[in-house]
Amino acid sequence: MFSTMQDVPLTVARILEHGSTLHGRATVTTWDGTGPQVRTFAEVGARAAQLAHALRDELDVTPEHVVGSLMWNNADHLEAYLAVPAMGGVLHTLNLRLPAAQLAFIVNHAADHVIIVSGSVLPLLAAVLPQLTSLKHIVISGPADRSLLAGFTGSVHEYEELIAGRPTDYPWQSEIDERSPAMICYTSGTTGDPKGVVYSHRSIFLHCLQGNAAAAFGLTPADVALPVVPMFHVAAWGIPYAAFMSGAGLLMPDRFLQPQPLAAMIEQVKPTVSAAVPTIWNGLLEELDHPTGRQQPYDVSSLRQVVIGGSACPPALMRAFQERHGIRVVHAWGMTETSPLGTFGLPPAGLDEEQQWHYRAMQGVFPAGVQARLIGPGGERVPHDGHSAGELEVRGPWIAGAYYGGAGNEPERPEDKFTEDGWLRTGDVGTITPDGFLTLTDRAKDVIKSGGEWISSVELENQLMAHPEVAEAAVVAVPDEKWGERPLAAVVLRPDAAVDLPGLRTFLAGRVASWQLPERWTLVESVPKTSVGKFDKKVIRADYAAGRLD
Ligand code: ADP
Repeated sequence: MFSTMQDVPLTVARILEHGSTLHGRATVTTWDGTGPQVRTFAEVGARAAQLAHALRDELDVTPEHVVGSLMWNNADHLEAYLAVPAMGGVLHTLNLRLPAAQLAFIVNHAADHVIIVSGSVLPLLAAVLPQLTSLKHIVISGPADRSLLAGFTGSVHEYEELIAGRPTDYPWQSEIDERSPAMICYTSGTTGDPKGVVYSHRSIFLHCLQGNAAAAFGLTPADVALPVVPMFHVAAWGIPYAAFMSGAGLLMPDRFLQPQPLAAMIEQVKPTVSAAVPTIWNGLLEELDHPTGRQQPYDVSSLRQVVIGGSACPPALMRAFQERHGIRVVHAWGMTETSPLGTFGLPPAGLDEEQQWHYRAMQGVFPAGVQARLIGPGGERVPHDGHSAGELEVRGPWIAGAYYGGAGNEPERPEDKFTEDGWLRTGDVGTITPDGFLTLTDRAKDVIKSGGEWISSVELENQLMAHPEVAEAAVVAVPDEKWGERPLAAVVLRPDAAVDLPGLRTFLAGRVASWQLPERWTLVESVPKTSVGKFDKKVIRADYAAGRLD
C-alpha cells in the first residue's frame, strides 16, 4: 500500500505566506527607546519581499550565499528571518556578544556574503572588518555612524533606502526541498569553539509546530509573545516563526534588555508569554520587587506564562514569580543543536500543589519529536527510574546530526558529540523518571568529581539561591589534593544582606549531604556571564587558579 497523502514541502516560505496574509492584522511591536513602534504582519511580509528583491537584484544574493544578521530583536530582524530563507538563501544569526575573534571566526566559517547590522552595534562589526574574508555588502538598520566603515571596500547600504520602492510581493520558494538549509546558528562556545548547526526548512517548520503546542508556548492570536531571549540565541527559541504561524503578536525588546525597560514594556504593551535565561528573570524579579524610582508596583498581570531555560532555573526563582507576582514559570531545556525545544516542564495532571512544584523544578518532559536515552560511563544504557544518572542523548527531526564543516567540506561528526547510530550526545548529565521527566544534574564538564562521588553544582547553586539574601550563586569544581576536586561557591549577596559566608554554610548544611558542603567560599560582585547570559564557569575556575578570588 502507498500513502495517499499529498507531499507538500514544509518551508519557511509557507510560514511567511501564511502569517502575512491570514494573520496580516497581527502586529510586531519594537521597543526602540522612543516608545513602541508597531508594524502589522502584512507590512512585515511586504517589507520582507522588498528586502528579498534588494538582496537578489542589488546585492546579487543567490541561494548559495549566506546572509548574516548582527541585530537586536526587532521588526527589521524579523523581516530578515523571513525573507532570506523564504527566497531560498541561508540566514546566519550572529551573536553580537561574542568575543571579536569568535565573531570573525563564525562570519568567515559560514562565508557570510552580506551582513545586516543594527546601527547601534556597527562598532562591533567595524572592529572585526579587517579579519573578514567573504563579506561583500553591509546593510545598516537604524541610525549609525557610517564613518566607522571607512576602510571597507565592499558596498554599504542603509536598510530603509535599500528596500524603498521595490515590489511588495516576491516569488517565495515555498516548493523547494524541505531538507535544504534555511538558517545557520553557531553554539555560543560555552565549552569550546563555536560550532555551526544548520537548520533545514523542515526542521524549522516541525519545531515551530512543537513550539505552538499547548504543552509548549501554546501561542494563539490572543497572545503577544515577548522573546527576551535574543534572536541570535537559537533563533529566540523559535518564537518569531511560531508567532507568524499562529498569529500571536510579538513584542520585540530591541537592545532594552535591562530590568527597568523590560518591566515598563511589559506593563505598557501587555505580553502574555515570554522567554529568557534565568539571569534575565533574576534581574526582572529584583525590579518587580523593588521598582526603581516609583512607588506603585508594576502591572505585569498580562503575563500568563514565562519560559525559563538555557541554564537550570532555581526553583526559588519560580516560586518567587508565582507567589509574589502571579506569574507562572515553566522550565525548559534545550540547546543550539536541538533547535532548541527539547523538554518543557508542565507537570502531569492530578497532582497536589507540592507534587506539582516537584515536577516543575525538573527540566521537563520530552515531546514526541524528541527521543531520549541516558548512557553511563561504560556506554551502557541507564534506566529511566528517576534516580540513575547518565549522559543525555537525543534524536529527532529538529535535532542536529552533524556540524557545518565550512564551504566545500563534509559535515563534521565529532565522536564526543554524535554517536555511531546518529544520536546527539548533549554533554548534559541527568536522570529521567519513568514518566519521562528530565532532571539535569550538571553539564558533564561542570560535575564536581569528589573522591569517586559526583556532586551536582546545579543542586548546590539552587539551594544557595533559595536563601533570600543571595542574589546569585555559582559553584565550580576546583582541584583538591585529597579528593581530586571539591566545590567552590562564588556568591553574590543582595544589597544590605546581613548574612555572611559562615552563615550561608550553616544554611546549606541543613539542605545537602555534609560531604557535598563546599569548604571554599568567595563573595563576588557579580558572577561572570557568557555571551548568552549564562554563568561562565570557565572564567570562575580560571580566576580561582590565578589566585584572583579570596
Ligand atoms: P552553549 O552550549 O554555548 O551554552 P546553548 O545555548 O546551546 O549554548 O546551551 C545549551 C546548554 O545549556 C545545554 O546543553 C545545557 O547544558 C544548558 N541548559 C539549557 N537549558 C537548561 C536547563 N533548563 N537546565 C539546565 N541546563 C540547561
